[in-house]
Amino acid sequence: MAKKGIVAIVGRPNVGKSSLFNRVIREKKSIVEDTPGVTRDRIYGNAEWLTREFLVIDTGGITLEDQPFAKEIKIQAEIAIEEADVIVFVLNYKEGLTEEDKMIARILYKTKKPVLIVVNKYDKKDLNLDIFEFMSIGLGEPIMISSTHGIGIGDLLDQIVHSMPKIENNIESGISRIAIIGKPNVGKSSLVNSLTGQNRMIVSPVAGTTLDAVDTKVKHEGKEYILVDTAGLRKKGKIYENIEKYSYLRALTTINSSDIVVLMVDSSSKITDQDTNIGGLAHEEKKPVIIVANKWDLVQNKEKAIHDKEEEIRSYFKYLQYAQILFISANDKTRIGKVYQAVDNIVEGLKKTIKTSVFNEVLNRAQLINPAPNHNGGRLKIYYGSQVEAYLPTFVMFVNNPDYVHFSYKRFLENQIRLQFGFEGVPINLIFRERK
Ligand code: GDP
Ligand code: GDP
Repeated sequence: MAKKGIVAIVGRPNVGKSSLFNRVIREKKSIVEDTPGVTRDRIYGNAEWLTREFLVIDTGGITLEDQPFAKEIKIQAEIAIEEADVIVFVLNYKEGLTEEDKMIARILYKTKKPVLIVVNKYDKKDLNLDIFEFMSIGLGEPIMISSTHGIGIGDLLDQIVHSMPKIENNIESGISRIAIIGKPNVGKSSLVNSLTGQNRMIVSPVAGTTLDAVDTKVKHEGKEYILVDTAGLRKKGKIYENIEKYSYLRALTTINSSDIVVLMVDSSSKITDQDTNIGGLAHEEKKPVIIVANKWDLVQNKEKAIHDKEEEIRSYFKYLQYAQILFISANDKTRIGKVYQAVDNIVEGLKKTIKTSVFNEVLNRAQLINPAPNHNGGRLKIYYGSQVEAYLPTFVMFVNNPDYVHFSYKRFLENQIRLQFGFEGVPINLIFRERK
């Protein structure tokens, strides 16, 4: 699975960070329904330039209550250093350099990661332009842009892509990288401990990726797995742990560097927005998911509770219908082996290839039992389809008109495919093309 590079935008308030962010993220126009529960006050988005995909983070969206402003800026800059591969430091042309800018610069001096100096609000060419003022901040030559007028954005994107370290996809190919994510205290570290037992082996970080990341390689029944570290800035103390937006970003970057996501929830309490926001990330980043409901030892009347709990989890994570739900206790090491089994299951699903003839039988039967409804002025007719080569199972279908695809019919087709072929835990891509 391709790991995307991460770009973080930093700078004091009002320099134009969010305007720049909105310029560079690619608005997704698709027929896929919205993911309910996913935070819409976006601090991250997907961007693409010269066929390179990357994630962009607007650190200005990470706000702290009851903290002095200087502390907030410092934390934003530190998070950028920790999580990003490239840092974009935004200054304001109209105001020149300020003391706050210099304060941020002093934090950024500490990182070896590439820092790009961007001077925003350069709305029109200035013959008296003095770039030396901005160079005096000591982080290289500035890129002059105007976010609102769309000037210099292409140059900036060129430099971002150019500065991005080569990102290796798998430390060792063939070994699944597993991210364990979830809100604080659900039992992530406990699960890592139960999964590793005595077989723990720290693997050194890959050059160019998050410097402090420590991944753990484990062996189970003769197979190897890598657990992607989730600690992040946690070691720096409580303050980071308690910033909800940071937990969220941390989940994103962990998901980004993994092949398979274990989404942990606490089965002894209610699902919260923080759980669904994190689950939504796994879905939006299109990763295979296993939902692990932990602390099952605390649940009374287990026989009866299991049904209700499963229903509750399904209703909160509607977009993760494909995910298997496991009830475990990390502390008591109950059903820990099932986690490995679920991972193996997903790996199988990712490798599965479906014969075109069999796939077309399924398509034909699906249309017979449930013909597509009228949508956008016409009725969908699928002529034929086949699986194409891709990391995730991807099926291309040739149809009379892709605009006639209603998302509920797409979901129906997906269910038919899953009924026939499984693919448990794995997202499926369905692509509709017009037959010429
Ligand atoms: P942030 O606080 O750093 O995220 O800054 P915003 O993106 O919210 O922008 C602050 C203000 O500056 C807004 O009123 C923007 O419209 C304005 N602004 C942003 N970029 C530009 C620019 O390139 N030129 C001008 N003239 N105004 C801009
Ligand atoms: P993290 O913040 O998600 O890494 O959570 P931790 O692994 O640090 O666990 C948080 C708390 O939950 C600790 O006090 C654990 O002992 C407790 N805990 C973790 N797993 C279980 C479990 O399966 N059952 C019970 N009863 N407590 C658990």
